[in-house]
Amino acid sequence: MQQNETIRNYLSSKEAQEHLGLTKEEIKSSFLENLFYRIGRIPPLASNLDLYSALALAIRDRAFKQFVKSTTEIARKNAKSVAYFSAEYLPGPHLGMNLLNLGITTETRQALEELDIKLEDLLEEEVEPGLGNGGLGRLASCYLDAMATQGIPSVGYGIRYEYGIFKQEIKDGWQSEATDKWLHFGNPWEVVRPEIAYEVKFGGKTEHGQDFNKELHVEWIPDMKLKGTAYDTPVLGYKGNGIIMRLWRSEAIESFDFSAYNGGDYYRAVEKKIRSENLTKVLYPNDENLSGKELRLKQQYFFVSCSLQDILHLHMLQNRSLETLHEKFTIQLNDTHPSISVAELMRLLVDRHDMEWERAWDVTRKTFAYTNHTLLPEALETWPVSLLGHILPRHLEIIYEINSRFLHELRDSNFSGEQIASMSLIDERGEPSVRMAHLATVGSYKVNGVSALHSMLLKNQVLSDFASLWPEKFSNVTNGISYRRFLAVSNPGLSNLITEKIGDGWYTRLDDLKKLENFVEDEEFQQKWTEVKLENKKVLACYIQEQTGISVAPEMLFDVHVKRIHEYKRQHLKVLHILSLYLRIKSGNGNEIAPCAFIFGGKAAPGYFMAKRIIRLITAVGERVNNDPEVNSKIKVVFLPNFSVKQAQKVYPAADLSEQVSLAGKEASGTGNMKFALNGALTVGTLDGANVEICEEVGEENFFLFGLTTAEVEAVKAEGYRPYKLYEENARLREVLDFLVSEELSGGDTELFRPIYENLLQQDPYLLLKDYESYINCQDHIHEVWRNKKEWTKKSILNVANMGKFSADRSIRDYCEEIWKVEPVRVS
Ligand SMILES: *Cc1c(COP(=O)(O)O)cnc(C)c1O
Repeated sequence: MQQNETIRNYLSSKEAQEHLGLTKEEIKSSFLENLFYRIGRIPPLASNLDLYSALALAIRDRAFKQFVKSTTEIARKNAKSVAYFSAEYLPGPHLGMNLLNLGITTETRQALEELDIKLEDLLEEEVEPGLGNGGLGRLASCYLDAMATQGIPSVGYGIRYEYGIFKQEIKDGWQSEATDKWLHFGNPWEVVRPEIAYEVKFGGKTEHGQDFNKELHVEWIPDMKLKGTAYDTPVLGYKGNGIIMRLWRSEAIESFDFSAYNGGDYYRAVEKKIRSENLTKVLYPNDENLSGKELRLKQQYFFVSCSLQDILHLHMLQNRSLETLHEKFTIQLNDTHPSISVAELMRLLVDRHDMEWERAWDVTRKTFAYTNHTLLPEALETWPVSLLGHILPRHLEIIYEINSRFLHELRDSNFSGEQIASMSLIDERGEPSVRMAHLATVGSYKVNGVSALHSMLLKNQVLSDFASLWPEKFSNVTNGISYRRFLAVSNPGLSNLITEKIGDGWYTRLDDLKKLENFVEDEEFQQKWTEVKLENKKVLACYIQEQTGISVAPEMLFDVHVKRIHEYKRQHLKVLHILSLYLRIKSGNGNEIAPCAFIFGGKAAPGYFMAKRIIRLITAVGERVNNDPEVNSKIKVVFLPNFSVKQAQKVYPAADLSEQVSLAGKEASGTGNMKFALNGALTVGTLDGANVEICEEVGEENFFLFGLTTAEVEAVKAEGYRPYKLYEENARLREVLDFLVSEELSGGDTELFRPIYENLLQQDPYLLLKDYESYINCQDHIHEVWRNKKEWTKKSILNVANMGKFSADRSIRDYCEEIWKVEPVRVS
């Protein structure tokens, strides 16, 4: 307490204020200090990277200052905290956000200008940490931003992958993968904490015996141990609190295994060291499902074990009993990736801290909450019992014990044998495997889906038996986004225009955007609105030219489909539409088509055959279309390589049309849909995920809806869907599909796209052919509306005005109120 007082006195002292001050002069002098003494350069010799690094270090110090303030206050109030567990984060570039959050973008720009340096050049230097695959990792980062802004005592726990998501290149039209060396030039945002390290065990066996008091005691004797070291990155909230993202890196326990060394087996010691460090070497590049990868399970267990040990340590440091853990910490599981936590916390409480099983189970179940992210049955995570038992023998025993008690409970509550088998933590139908979603559901006090539709389907289908057992356990928190990143930082033109009209209250209350409705008929405002969009499109057009050599006219309709490449997301439905336009133009019937640029981006999992073929299809259509003078003044097709947060921040602000065309019932929520609409794009979409709620908010008249509903999808499948029949019946569709396997498209290799063609004609698991007609008609309507620029602009304004709900700040408030029961602790 005494110490606390001292820290607070220091923080409010004149020296501390000045040392990390926020005026132009103070920023300039810290920037130079960092350049001279931490980078060791002087301006004439410094590269932009040196300058960027010096600035980043100056800003990081200020970010940590906010973190220290927040932490001191949280400790003083003895407040309850959230630990967010996520195997992935996709933070995007830090610098621009941190400047915004500290409120010093202008001061910093001026300070640099006085040194003849342009802030924009330094922002371009930043390499983003690609520690996630897509939506799920990006959501985790949006939530850290919102938790910091709301002043929620919180830590984001995860893995410090040395290589993030691969860098995508396009070679001869195909995706090729290169390693992402994001740490190559160092990472100025993180601080390593060698003193914060925990031991993690793997493999071996367990021994069951009795201790001195004749209590049963289990000893886990592993065959391998390593340690996880903490790397902390500050995450700032908007004008206020700071939290940290704590990522674990695996290392050998000792830098040398001395016994092996002394025994002369130097190489064995080195190998062991390398093996330990390999664990966090690389992120698995699969977005939806991944089966049986031993290293992935080890990564999951590794980060969960380090994080839980850290939490127990922090809890006990305050002289608290572990029986009150759930009163001071709540742990949110971002999907099932960290769900081995349930067994690990039981192990720590029971085996290491000698808590009784029932008591430990009670604490565990009051500590965890679980967010489900997928309805795709193939994406629900399971681990073969044999593999899990081999790597985590004690955890398998614990899972069996949890299961046996749970199934007992079910038998007492009169569930049928069939229901019990389907609810069991162990799937016994084939090779026995552990159902991680069931482990997470049984071990948590709350389970939520990520959009209204998804949560409903979760409750009524995927986990329906669990929902009938524990109806109060299930809830919904619709995803939200960090609009400060995806509007304020990445679209300054639109942000300034909005602020001119309604003030800057929307930086903390996105609902304020509603006030824009008052100006929807204001012609001058409409004019400025279209000018801003056109400006953003010019910037993107330059970027496209630079990246791909393709020129697109900024006046074209920018029709954008960016996200991971997956069949359920139906990039190939978009391709069918483009081909239909191509054929129409070629046959002289293209007058109704407005000039448009189709812009795609997104990575495919390296082992996903169809997804990679779809990328090849897009580039082939591009080659065909962009080089045909009969067509290329009307339409252009672009595949932007290496979609990332940094690139996304250029793309969303320039889009006119947002493609959200997944098959209804497949996309849990989506967040790209929100980022587009917030930047004034209109959406063409199905009633899937959060599209449903976006459509509700902006109004059906401002949203281009098409396609089957979830219920209709089920009905079609129940009837026995026959795509071939649609091919036979619809001549225009047939023409488009046949074009897929024509010499003209494939440049002679008619086998190139046959797998896609066959898949659509035979199974068409995502019902492209069924939704085709509806999609094409909808697109024709879109082109008609686009012709009426005024009409389009009004719809665009109304979309932005009604996006208030989709703020991550709102999502975090929902989590706090309905799930976590955590109160904010604010500092200034
Ligand atoms: C928002 C975002 C996603 C998720 O996009 P969806 O359209 O919701 O699938 C993926 N990757 C990046 C880089 C993003 O910014």
